[in-house]
Amino acid sequence: MPKTTPPDEADLTGVAARTSPKPTVETVGGRKLKPATLMMGHGYDPMLSEGSLKPPIFATSTYVFPNAAAGKRHFEGVTGKRPGGAEGLVYSRFNGPNQEILEDRLALWEEAEDALVFSSGMSAIATLFLSMVKPGDTIVHSGPLYAATETLIARILGRFGVHWLDFPAGATREEIDTVLSKASSGNVALIYLESPANPTNALVDVEAVSASRDAIFKGANKPPIAIDNTFLGPLWAQPMRQGADIVVYSLTKYAGGHSDLVAGGVLGSKEHINTIRLMRNTIGTICDPNTAWMLLRSLETLELRMSRAGENAVKVCNFLKTHPKVDRVGYLGFLEEQGDARQADIYRRHCAGAGSTFSLYLKGGETEAFAFLDHLKIAKLAVSLGGTETLASHPAGMTHLSVPEARKKALNITDSLVRISIGVEDADDLIADFGAALDAI
Ligand SMILES: *Cc1c(COP(=O)(O)O)cnc(C)c1O
Repeated sequence: MPKTTPPDEADLTGVAARTSPKPTVETVGGRKLKPATLMMGHGYDPMLSEGSLKPPIFATSTYVFPNAAAGKRHFEGVTGKRPGGAEGLVYSRFNGPNQEILEDRLALWEEAEDALVFSSGMSAIATLFLSMVKPGDTIVHSGPLYAATETLIARILGRFGVHWLDFPAGATREEIDTVLSKASSGNVALIYLESPANPTNALVDVEAVSASRDAIFKGANKPPIAIDNTFLGPLWAQPMRQGADIVVYSLTKYAGGHSDLVAGGVLGSKEHINTIRLMRNTIGTICDPNTAWMLLRSLETLELRMSRAGENAVKVCNFLKTHPKVDRVGYLGFLEEQGDARQADIYRRHCAGAGSTFSLYLKGGETEAFAFLDHLKIAKLAVSLGGTETLASHPAGMTHLSVPEARKKALNITDSLVRISIGVEDADDLIADFGAALDAI
């Protein structure tokens, strides 16, 4: 009868069905393979699933133990009695083959020791926070953050006695020192960053944050640095290289890349990931097997999609910046020529590319912005980013509608601001679309 794991492979230690008896190929002729190559096979042995080239979707809520002792050992992993999670499959709130293959492949992109996947970017962030903070602790963060993350820190964790302090995304070493010193009178549980900030596009100097943290906090008091890398990762920014300990993703965006799923990820050292995994095991914020399978498909084209979107964005932004109806294009690729020396310096040290999400400031106000948006034919009028299709939205009237006027002003969220995420269409078609919509204003 068909079966997923041959009996001799379902050994008494209960090794997961997806686990290859031979190690996955990671080098060829002494050459360490790149993630783009490893996305097609890493962590999965077809021979354990009837030769199926692609992993099957494991639609099950629970897993049968080969014997009672193996079941006990797995639960020691699940409950944290032994670190590292269960050695075998237990129950679908804890782990599953599709999610584990996805986690192995996700970690490769940033050379992280380990990774976890979640049901959304926000459930990843919430699980991270819940695993690290207790009443009385402080979270120090860069600002602005993704709106729901700010709500989670200030309004929800605040209800449980967690404090927060922030510094602006573009802060200098001195400014970061000032905020961290002030915070260090209490227990700082976590330093949480997001770069580039939305919609200002301001980059955080992760190297400066890391140096400041190391100067101000010693030994066991040293808080980990986590960063939301959704906008530039993993192709254009890999912040663990600049000193971040934990990287957070909304996989809904570039990683999923087709605007057809919602998921999140956290990458980091085995030690941090073990702490976060225990919380995920408890509250069940793991992503489902079907979504994990879709993400495995997405990761196979991650580099292709992001490269093409990045190339398209260069062309589109170059067209937009000289158009008479455009006031300014807030695109990371223009930092140097726009004379922002501080931001350009961070960009050079931290980024391998300018991404494909940017801010377009039109001449005029809401009327002009709405006319532009309503005349787009290829670009879709929707929030979100990082998909194959180009999206455009109006932050002041949509994502940031409830932000108080003074704060909108400080963040430069004007009525003439349009946010654009460039997809993988033909660049000249996109330019024609933007050109015609600008002419129609
Ligand atoms: C979308 C997004 C999130 C939230 O992710 P969901 O998958 O929607 O929960 C968090 N951070 C950033 C930067 C995002 O763009």
